[in-house]
Amino acid sequence: MTMNHEIRNYFNTLDRSLFMDKNKEMANVDSPVPIGYGQTISQPSLVLEMTQLLMPDKGMKTLEIGTGSGYQTALLSEFSKEVFTIERIPQLYIKSKTRLENMGYKNVCFKMDDGTMGWPEFAPFDRIIVTAAARFIPSSLTHQLSPNGRMVIPVGGPNFQELLLVTKDEKGEVITINKGYVRFVPLIGKYE
Ligand code: SAH
Repeated sequence: MTMNHEIRNYFNTLDRSLFMDKNKEMANVDSPVPIGYGQTISQPSLVLEMTQLLMPDKGMKTLEIGTGSGYQTALLSEFSKEVFTIERIPQLYIKSKTRLENMGYKNVCFKMDDGTMGWPEFAPFDRIIVTAAARFIPSSLTHQLSPNGRMVIPVGGPNFQELLLVTKDEKGEVITINKGYVRFVPLIGKYE
């Protein structure tokens, strides 16, 4: 099992400015920063917190919705067997794919699509993380979570969201816990 300090140590080696192509002077500030197309790179402390809540591990298959800059993706890549990441904005998809491939991350599969339907071809996933604000938990994502799986997802309105930890036990029973309040850009998609 991956320990919290291992995640923190690797996180500390990640240079956030490498995931930005403007506003680089803001890289070390603990706040979200615009990356274009109306989107933001999340604040570092929240990326770390969400990853620790997710409890990823080297043997696991992880699904990420909202690739954005690829900053969170890089951290997930280090602590997963494979990462499947989906981004709906073509320019961000291609930029992050190129960026992470050039940085040497090899276990990441990228897709340009609405991620609210998940990625059925590769389901189920041991871990699912959503890095945009959902109005409610998309049912496809809960279905695509493995038994003993964990999902971290911000759910709420446009101004703030509850950061939810969704766990599924070995019998398939799902429990949701509120872990605090956050603010993300909206998850845009067709979901039910
Ligand atoms: N973890 C990223 C967060 C980027 S912001 C980072 O730190 O850089 C959230 C991203 O989710 C945006 O890039 C946005 O385009 C994307 N997004 C929003 N709705 C989506 C959807 N339905 N499917 C896939 N990506 C989505």
